[in-house]
Amino acid sequence: MQNSEIKTTCSYCGVGCGIIVTNDSKNGVEVKGDVNHPVNRGMLCSKGMNLHYVVNDTSDRILYPEMRWSKSHPKERVSWDDALERAAAVFSSIIKKHGPDSVGFYVSGQCLTEEYYLINKLVKGFLKTNNVDTNSRLCMSSAVVGYKKTFGEDIVPIAYDDIELADTFLITGANPAWCHPILFRRLEQHKEKNPKTKIIVIDPRRTDSAALADLHLQIIPGTDIILYHAIGKRLIEKGYIDNDFIKNHTENFNLYKDLVLSSSFEKASKLCGVSVNDIKLAADMIGKAKGFISLWAMGLNQSAIGVDKNTALLNLSLVTGQVGKPGSGPFSLTGQPNAMGGREVGGMANLLAVHKELNNPMHRKEVADFWGVNEISEKPGLTATEMFDALESGKMKAIWIICTNPLVSLPDSRRVEKALQNAKFVVVQDISHNADTSKFADLLLPAAGWLEKEGTMTNSERRISYLPKGVNAPGEALSDVEILIRFAQKMNFNGFNFNTTEEVYKEYCMMTKDTKMDISFLNYNRLKNEGTFQWPVPDYGHPGTPRLFTDKKFYTPSQKAIFNIPTAIENTSEQPNSQYPFILTTGRIRDQWHTMTKTGKVSRLMTHIPSPMLEINPIDAFKSGINAGDIVVVTSKNGTVRVKAKITDSIREGVVFLPMHWGKQLENDLNRTNNLTNTLVDPTSKEPDFKFTTVSIEKYVKA
Ligand code: SF4
Repeated sequence: MQNSEIKTTCSYCGVGCGIIVTNDSKNGVEVKGDVNHPVNRGMLCSKGMNLHYVVNDTSDRILYPEMRWSKSHPKERVSWDDALERAAAVFSSIIKKHGPDSVGFYVSGQCLTEEYYLINKLVKGFLKTNNVDTNSRLCMSSAVVGYKKTFGEDIVPIAYDDIELADTFLITGANPAWCHPILFRRLEQHKEKNPKTKIIVIDPRRTDSAALADLHLQIIPGTDIILYHAIGKRLIEKGYIDNDFIKNHTENFNLYKDLVLSSSFEKASKLCGVSVNDIKLAADMIGKAKGFISLWAMGLNQSAIGVDKNTALLNLSLVTGQVGKPGSGPFSLTGQPNAMGGREVGGMANLLAVHKELNNPMHRKEVADFWGVNEISEKPGLTATEMFDALESGKMKAIWIICTNPLVSLPDSRRVEKALQNAKFVVVQDISHNADTSKFADLLLPAAGWLEKEGTMTNSERRISYLPKGVNAPGEALSDVEILIRFAQKMNFNGFNFNTTEEVYKEYCMMTKDTKMDISFLNYNRLKNEGTFQWPVPDYGHPGTPRLFTDKKFYTPSQKAIFNIPTAIENTSEQPNSQYPFILTTGRIRDQWHTMTKTGKVSRLMTHIPSPMLEINPIDAFKSGINAGDIVVVTSKNGTVRVKAKITDSIREGVVFLPMHWGKQLENDLNRTNNLTNTLVDPTSKEPDFKFTTVSIEKYVKA
């Protein structure tokens, strides 16, 4: 590294911690937390602390483009020119023969904003299809729709600094102690200093987050809306509501009131598996709060009724008037470091850049004019799971996968495997050979990783940070920006004459001008010299905007927030039955990230939980004849997993848990959790139902 010290941002979760990188004594780099960074104030979690291993160890990296001329040939080394000419020729020929919707791009919340922007411009503007979606579809698309339905815009209204101003927290469908550790550490420190701070956790598992809670509601999976409505009922009945806010700044309250008052605590208690007393206690804590923050993540979003779960939760902030005030508001947590940046540039099949809508003809025209193209197709693109369905059925012929490992991370892995086998042409653009998906690549493109390229990211609280390049990428690996520009030029597209990543950033920033997320005055210099900013930043001297809706004007036509009435209250997933009596819920563990392509190669991160284990309640284990450490076979309609059993009363009876990270790292793929998961998605957000698959469990007996 040429500079003796570089300030950057962690590339793992959406917390967005500041990191200082320096040279180590062995020609590599080392990392430490940035004490002056507003997010983490010097702290790093186990993953962030070990990020330098990923940079220093290049043994697994893809070093040059590899290509195979047909499915029966092995891949061979080719030049960048040959690789991208072939990609351009194949994409052009498929589009000519089968139309633009026969190709698609599947990308990642780990892409930097400039990369995300370019991909969308390339696909939606020039390839003339909206088939570009992201693995962020798997983690937060239900929250996006929930915000839009409630506030009129996909907006996270608050900032981490609100944590220290709040006195009551509802953590629901999230385990930030493991998945957003530094955010959780701030919450812990706040409670240490202010012991009267109340924390309620709703989770079928007694997680490390629940261990800090004053009240843990160990809910039956899928019953969240029933519980939120029962809490809403108590809030209204006890008068813990903000009548002024409701009257002046919301719509639909009477519908909401009638709905929740018609519910019964006893019925809610029975369906949710928590006591009436605890429901009322939770409501009373929320009702008495001076500052109330709800925090949630995939436990809510990854559901067949994920959008309704989101809006039902947001209703609790509306009914108590806890929005737009210091220390209050709803706060969805993004899993990936730049899931938020992806939302900003329209990195999903149904979105356009700067929060413009694909289904709005005026918005399509504005974007088309900005990019200098005739039009943007009005046909919504295929979402993550739909793309792989289309590959399997043959409707889609080619896919370009960037920085993600769908074979392990999408639901029903067998279906994904068939889809990749069936595809005519698969491009995988990634940093390492570790992603199982790369085995299916007809063209494998080596990309630069964290610290090897520059760009920007936005964390969960809308904070934009600049990530500088510190070291050269190994071999012939190129930045994703450069790969995309070179491909666009091979396709003879105008509008990709960028010489630097900064030029891409500038173009995107101009697009934000006069929008709600205006960053047209936030240039690289400010980000480099002054640090991070929360959007909007609508002026040269503007310090950024930590908190939105302080004027109580929302982005709906009436400027009022909307109480949404769910279309589904009870879970629409397939319910347990005699063949599949258990509910499988999947999730993340503390020291692993996604499909372990990076964290899995860091030996000290493997010591925490070295192999996947099925968490099962002692009563269920006893009934099934399973002892601790036994190998068990978990079976669903879709497939099988064989793992060790971990008997623990931290999970409720009838529910089992598997971490989602493992793929094919062991001798076979029987440790791949998504062999099991069901293919349901939320009807609006299209986010998969990862938290609810019915399974059977039996002890493995060697044949
Ligand atoms: Fe990185 Fe997230 Fe850990 Fe912070 S909390 S160090 S952003 S993984």
